[in-house]
Amino acid sequence: MLMPNFAYVRPKTLQEAIKHLSSPDCRVHAGGTDLLGCLRDEVFHAKRIVSLVGLHDLRGIHPTKEGGLRIGALTTVTEVAASKIIQERYPGLARAAAEVASPQLRNQGTIGGNICQKPRCWYYRGEFHCLRKGGEKCFAAKGENPFHCIFGSGGICYIVHPSDIAPALVAFEATARVIGPKSGRWVPLEGIHVLPGVDPQKETVLKTNEIVTEILLPPAKGFRSSYRKVRARQSWDFALAGVALALRFKEGQVEKARVVLSGAAPIPWRSKEAEGVLTGKRLDADVAVRAAEAAVKNAEPLEQNGYKIPLFRGVIEEELLAIAKA
Ligand SMILES: Cc1cc2nc3c(=O)[nH]c(=O)nc-3n(C[C@H](O)[C@H](O)[C@H](O)COP(=O)(O)OP(=O)(O)OC[C@H]3O[C@@H](n4cnc5c(N)ncnc54)[C@H](O)[C@@H]3O)c2cc1C
Ligand code: SF4
Repeated sequence: MLMPNFAYVRPKTLQEAIKHLSSPDCRVHAGGTDLLGCLRDEVFHAKRIVSLVGLHDLRGIHPTKEGGLRIGALTTVTEVAASKIIQERYPGLARAAAEVASPQLRNQGTIGGNICQKPRCWYYRGEFHCLRKGGEKCFAAKGENPFHCIFGSGGICYIVHPSDIAPALVAFEATARVIGPKSGRWVPLEGIHVLPGVDPQKETVLKTNEIVTEILLPPAKGFRSSYRKVRARQSWDFALAGVALALRFKEGQVEKARVVLSGAAPIPWRSKEAEGVLTGKRLDADVAVRAAEAAVKNAEPLEQNGYKIPLFRGVIEEELLAIAKA
């Protein structure tokens, strides 16, 4: 397919960018690795794309006074993966960033774009006018669905949230700074993505004229963290099953646990069931097995993706045992 025509603007200030976005049919452009594919494949249309590339304040990784970290939305995925301070304080986040796509895409793609990217359902990305595009039916429900979700569809839309970074951010209880025409707000990463039961045509709570400017990570002192991703092949690919862990230990026991699944649901999927099993326990082989079982207990597989249940069980158990030894 040829790229359709659109106007391209490169504002110099955030206010200017937001003003542009207030006219109809505009889209934010960061690294463009997802946006341009969507425009070319006519997943959606835009009259104008508003590039953030001139907004230099939106780049960089800065420690906060409290011991946390601010990551500008235009910071590339490579910069997140390679950052020494992220590797030391938030290894699960560095690992998740390193698992994204290919080196070229990590060099070009940004953390803001990564958490706001569109889903990869092949019907949605193809020529099918499905429910998520404003049509009347979900083609995956009874169609080809081996890579679709096992949680959170609401029986409406079966996408999996595609980002590797977002589950790690949810595990660390990060928040996103969102700026719109009148004001700014902080949105917890855990609440930024939208389930199909709330709105099957939206992936995030952002309005079309709002921009994510930065991500704030709270201090992670005392936490051990990791990210594990299983994909169908060793080169670039999205997660079939993945898990982000952030566990705080005290006197040999898990004092606080965050377990967030990728490749599982239309949003990064927090497993409160697994967290409940882990909290207050010594993390041994038996607890790891029970937490992994709890994580998949309420799964609702489709005809072709039942294999995800034992896959998640194995991945979670292995990763919990690895973090126990770390
Ligand atoms: C072949 C391929 C393989 C990939 N594999 C993976 C993978 O394994 N794991 C993974 O996590 N990702 C993967 N991706 C997705 C890729 O990582 C993301 O596309 C990239 O991080 C997005 O960043 P970007 O800056 O290029 O976003 P863009 O393409 O510029 O934007 C993506 C979306 O986010 C919106 N947006 C961007 N920035 C902001 C902002 N600051 N505020 C509000 N909205 C914004 C845009 O309007 C657009 O809708 C893959 C992509 C491709 C093409
Ligand atoms: S899973 Fe969602 S995006 Fe895919 S065909 Fe169904 S409604 Fe469309």
